Amino acid sequence: MSKFINPRLGRLETYVPGEQPKDQQYIKLNTNELPYPPSPEVIARVNAAQVADLRLYSDPTCGGLVEKLARQYDVAPENVFVGNGSDEVLNFAFACYCRAGAAFADLTYGFYGVFAELYGIDADIKPLRDDFSIDPADYMNVGKAVVIANPNAPTGLVLPVETIEAIVRSNPDHVVIIDEAYVDFGATSVVPLTKKYENLLVASTFSKSRALAGARVGFGIGNEALIRDLNRIKFTTNPYNINRLSLVAAEAALDSQAYFDEKDRLVAQTRASATAALRALGFETTDSMANFIFAKSDRIGGGDLYRQLKARGILVRHFDTARIKDFVRITVGTPAEMDALLGAINDILNSLD
Ligand code: PMP
Repeated sequence: MSKFINPRLGRLETYVPGEQPKDQQYIKLNTNELPYPPSPEVIARVNAAQVADLRLYSDPTCGGLVEKLARQYDVAPENVFVGNGSDEVLNFAFACYCRAGAAFADLTYGFYGVFAELYGIDADIKPLRDDFSIDPADYMNVGKAVVIANPNAPTGLVLPVETIEAIVRSNPDHVVIIDEAYVDFGATSVVPLTKKYENLLVASTFSKSRALAGARVGFGIGNEALIRDLNRIKFTTNPYNINRLSLVAAEAALDSQAYFDEKDRLVAQTRASATAALRALGFETTDSMANFIFAKSDRIGGGDLYRQLKARGILVRHFDTARIKDFVRITVGTPAEMDALLGAINDILNSLD
């Protein structure tokens, strides 16, 4: 850090992304990417002509993509904001709506706490119950913004739509941000409720269910006044926030939704079989509706398991946080990748005997 940095910024704790080591080829089950490639349509449309067009700025309104998202989610284009990953949507939402503070879980997406610090927001941390479920009562009428990942990360647990609606209804003077990064793997979206409630903002992404993590495209859906707010921040920071190739890729992804629906179903099937196999090996797991499994063995700590899997060429995510240090979060890969994982875990457990 330089001596020139604003000391307040110099003290910020940064978000730590999952590792992306280059030293060898790993089976990568640590950052919740889809294990399947983007659709053939995406791969065909991002072509040499698109690269040649990179001399031109991208569309600052993301007009084509906004139109397609509006059609897909049955809302108006004025209800859609496109961000550089849903991280940017969340970033702008924290900037806009959390002056009175923000309530979110102790175990949830780590970036919420980082944004809260960045903007000097009072973080009202609500501990999950012992079984890692959210207690909805914690979020009723809280007098500040609410941020909930649904499904939550790293647990994969889901709140029913009616519960989210009750939380939104009980906080009419504050924005409730529902982060649906993992919704397409079996949960139900609350996007339809955005038509009914002016204080509901849904954040979502092309990074997980649409296999475009590297393209960095996310979106927010909400009342048109909320969308204007997010655009206000965008047009005061980075008007060309989505590059041309990513816009092309994301539009093509929406044109091949059937392909992704099939892959997402396959992930859900693989999640069920891998979860059953882990339970048969004595693991405790949450009932994840996301594309990851949150699992703990009483025979080996999470950190040890993470290290031993890495030594065998398999990356999973371990969080060194008191409440969940015994767990690992395992992204659902292909059936073959999960077989390799289960084989490795079996070996590791046998080596303990
Ligand atoms: N929300 C949650 C709950 C996540 O786990 C992630 C992935 N790190 C994101 C949002 C951000 O994803 P992206 O910026 O790639 O859309």
